[in-house]
Amino acid sequence: MAAPITINTPITYADALPDAVDVIIIGGGVIGIFSALYLNRLGKRVLVCEKGRIAGEQSSRNWGWIRQHGRDAAEIPITAQAVKLWHEIDAEVGGACGVKTTGIAYLADNEKRMHKLLEWLDIAKEHDLDSYAMGAEHVDSMFSQPHEGKWIGGTCTPSDCVAEPWQAVPAVAKLAHQEGVLIRENCAVRDIQRQAGAVSGVVTEAGEVACNQVVLCGGAWSSVFARRLGIKLPQLTVEATVAQTQPLGAGIGHSFSDGEIAMRKRADGGYNIALADSHGIYLGPDSFRHALPFFPLLKTSWNELQIKGLSPKGFSDAWGLKRNWSADEITPFEQMRVMDPPSNDRRVARMQQRFTERFPQQVGLDILSSWSGMIDAMPDVVPVVDEVQQIPGFYLATGMSAHGFGIGPGYGRVIARMLSGLPAEHDLTRFRLSRFSDGSKIEVGPAL
Ligand SMILES: Cc1cc2nc3c(=O)[nH]c(=O)nc-3n(C[C@H](O)[C@H](O)[C@H](O)COP(=O)(O)OP(=O)(O)OC[C@H]3O[C@@H](n4cnc5c(N)ncnc54)[C@H](O)[C@@H]3O)c2cc1C
Repeated sequence: MAAPITINTPITYADALPDAVDVIIIGGGVIGIFSALYLNRLGKRVLVCEKGRIAGEQSSRNWGWIRQHGRDAAEIPITAQAVKLWHEIDAEVGGACGVKTTGIAYLADNEKRMHKLLEWLDIAKEHDLDSYAMGAEHVDSMFSQPHEGKWIGGTCTPSDCVAEPWQAVPAVAKLAHQEGVLIRENCAVRDIQRQAGAVSGVVTEAGEVACNQVVLCGGAWSSVFARRLGIKLPQLTVEATVAQTQPLGAGIGHSFSDGEIAMRKRADGGYNIALADSHGIYLGPDSFRHALPFFPLLKTSWNELQIKGLSPKGFSDAWGLKRNWSADEITPFEQMRVMDPPSNDRRVARMQQRFTERFPQQVGLDILSSWSGMIDAMPDVVPVVDEVQQIPGFYLATGMSAHGFGIGPGYGRVIARMLSGLPAEHDLTRFRLSRFSDGSKIEVGPAL
């Protein structure tokens, strides 16, 4: 059964703060933990500071897809590498991540969507992915039980995988810790320290630690942290809900999305289901501050967004949230250890309805539980992975735009190599921070 991590999950890591390390990672989600693991393997002394719990926010709440399918062309080589790394790491932790190659398929019930799916196949071909197109019969053969989906076809990448997020990231954290990474939960980073403009350490709620490199992997909080340092990071948060069914003999092995519903079979035989076309927006100051660069994305996806009112108290874009503080003050990060938005009952009811419309033999489908998470979205649906030019030694790896779980090991490896002075082995131009300030046109990536 799925068990997203919350504030009630006991603290596992309480390492004493050292005087100095080489690198401090802010945030113990999938990006922070994989970066720490690979940095340590390259010989760096690393400390991960997590304000709440390892994987407490997006990294234990996601669908569990490890997807190359539909990805932005610039990310395909990194995500393809991430798939290999997930397999490697899962083997190292004795299968605790639950990585399984199931393929991920996108299905269409109309020509317009089918056309869009086929367009992406050209990109897949250029990158030698094993993706292919499916006709209606092929789609039918994916399901060993009757279904009423009106699918005319689809596309699939059979090498795509799934994993169990609430197990996977903690398992990788355990491995990293065993290998020597220091981890401290309930430990917010309040500020960075500088000497001659460059990073010289951090101030945490538990004290100061010296270092020459800091990576901000703060998910939905990165924009708040960055803005206080004078860094403009146009990131918004979007709420998404997931529900889990009991184990079912539903004959649906593939993970798929048909644009309305998305699902994944869990290791225990139950399904995680979600609406693929419905996300919540809470309004806060950043919704207005960052609106402009989001216009091109909103033009194509506004009908998938429901405005849910004002951002709840303490959330990363709440009205009244302290946006500036001194390093000896309690910060918004300590006031909200784990951002745990309420699950949306209406959306869960709609999921049940859509699931049973497609698989009528499952009428009476029981939902065991549901939860929500806040996704950190960027205007072009790709993250920022870059050093901040005005603060040497300060790096951003954030804004994963709803696909950071799958690609996490890939960016973790990139970060480790960048900070170690090794070639990243990938073209990172698209992920530069300056794209939001150098007059570049916002090129919206595929948000299929
Ligand atoms: C419902 C849902 C479904 C999704 N489905 C998928 C999917 O199927 N496949 C996929 O690839 N991706 C999916 N995603 C996206 C994926 O989960 C995220 O992209 C990924 O987890 C981001 O990882 P992260 O490490 O950047 O951020 P997070 O996991 O959010 O971690 C950031 C951490 O930083 C900590 N932090 C922030 N500020 C501070 C500070 N000042 N000091 C200390 N700690 C701090 C936070 O507490 C948090 O734990 C989904 C997301 C959601 C919400």
